[in-house]
Amino acid sequence: MIAQPKDIDHAVPALDLTPTGKVPAVLNGLPAQPIPPAGLTAEQRGAEWMARYGCTPWCVLDHAGTDGEPGWHQGPRAAVTAPTPYADSMPGDGLGLVLAARVTTVNQDAAAFGVESLLWVEIDCETLELDVEQTDVLISRLEQFLPVLRALRGQLAEASGGDFPADPVAKARYMAEMDERVKTRTAELLAAEASK
Ligand SMILES: [Zn+2]
Repeated sequence: MIAQPKDIDHAVPALDLTPTGKVPAVLNGLPAQPIPPAGLTAEQRGAEWMARYGCTPWCVLDHAGTDGEPGWHQGPRAAVTAPTPYADSMPGDGLGLVLAARVTTVNQDAAAFGVESLLWVEIDCETLELDVEQTDVLISRLEQFLPVLRALRGQLAEASGGDFPADPVAKARYMAEMDERVKTRTAELLAAEASK
């Protein structure tokens, strides 16, 4: 029997989303993963640049070039790309994105509208905008998902052990026989219609 999503859900322990402020045990001893290098930070571009664009020190947007002055400032984008193109992608689409995140500070007309910093998380075509507490919830859920993903990988390895490829000769014969059955049935239906 193929495992349904509801069966898999049983393996996920109920989540306690109360923020504890503690580093989850699963992270103990693991080095922090560096965010891939992007362009120069505003700090590296210098004080004049930061003052001109109201930049945060870690902003990597090119306000004088392609990124313009959108009214917000963003750090480097960390991303998980898909190991293969999506199943419904078109040829040449390349690899899809599973998840990406970057810190964003909106500080346009701050005196009137204030300053708001959030983690912008891209998932498929949607964006989540998370504060620190909500980011903790996402981290917690991803950490609980990874052991389940590993378990599913083990289940897949077992399930795919007996897989075998199609037999082109048998497949061609099967398709030809099906064509023949469709032709025969169509002729029967047309004949029945004509005799009415
Ligand atoms: Zn900036």
